[in-house]
Amino acid sequence: MRAHATEQEIAGVCERIQGLGFRAHVMPGAERAAIGITGNHGPVPRSEFEDLPGVAEAIPVSKPYKLVSREVKPDNTVVNVAGVLVGGDELALCAGPCSVESREQILASARAVKSAGAQLLRGGAYKPRTSPYAFQGLGEEGLRYLVEAREETGLGIVTEAIDVEVFDLVEEHADCIQIGARNMQNFSLLRRAGRARKPILLKRGMSNTLEEFLMAAEYILSEGNYQVIMCERGVRTFADHTRNTLDLSVVPAVQRLSHLPIIVDPSHGTGKRDKVHPMALAAVAAGASGLIVEVHPNPDKALSDGFQSLYPHQFRELADECRAISELLKSRRLAAV
Ligand code: PEP
Ligand code: MN
Repeated sequence: MRAHATEQEIAGVCERIQGLGFRAHVMPGAERAAIGITGNHGPVPRSEFEDLPGVAEAIPVSKPYKLVSREVKPDNTVVNVAGVLVGGDELALCAGPCSVESREQILASARAVKSAGAQLLRGGAYKPRTSPYAFQGLGEEGLRYLVEAREETGLGIVTEAIDVEVFDLVEEHADCIQIGARNMQNFSLLRRAGRARKPILLKRGMSNTLEEFLMAAEYILSEGNYQVIMCERGVRTFADHTRNTLDLSVVPAVQRLSHLPIIVDPSHGTGKRDKVHPMALAAVAAGASGLIVEVHPNPDKALSDGFQSLYPHQFRELADECRAISELLKSRRLAAV
């Protein structure tokens, strides 16, 4: 649509789309709204729309993913997670333990990451574990502790929904719902996420291509939820000095093809505490919109992912340096315009 197209003009285009038997997806932007069309099997004549009031242009999308593509929406999407703008000018920092283990543990984590400057708190109440005998998370009790941590610190909560069964409960408590790497192609879960009224953090599967990653996001947008944050968390390679190989080149690759913001998880992306800080710096330098980092008040006693969890003081240093890089890049961009 043209910049400042009216509500009425947008509604007029949606009516035309629905009249043809298709679904209209209105995606507001900073300047211009974009309206995507799905449900068509084959090309739709541009002439159907080009003369409608408020329309700037009608663009046939050449990619297999439609709604996530920059062809449909050239402006960056900014996702609002409890007032924190992911994909905006500020670097978004989300931190906290892998799992919520107790009330005291999540409150201590929340206080520590808040004082280091994180705006969002992470912590799984439902954990996808390789072993059925490993700690599976506190479930609903964990969600309640997260809410308590939010009430005390004001941090927005990011927590995972591991399946459709727990989705409603997670949606009720979380500010942003994580879809984990193992579920990136769980299509029924993605569709459910697409019907959620909360933003989604979509983690890249550990052996998925860029196109598969974007198609997973497309599932969510196709159901009407346009608030999706992409997250690189490392992929499987032959390398064995790390748990996963952090594929930072996917950051500019996603940004080129999609309007959705992308953040980086250097914790799962390396699996080793001493590699988290350098890779976090690299992620920010590569242009990531934010970081999600595992931090634990006592990593040696953690019930999951302790070896990749930072001590609170390490997270403080990481946050300070990452913000410095982000600010430097921002000031240079401003000076260039
Ligand atoms: C996590 O965030 O703790 C997690 C399980 O992440 P991933 O799905 O990327 O492995
Ligand atoms: Mn973890």
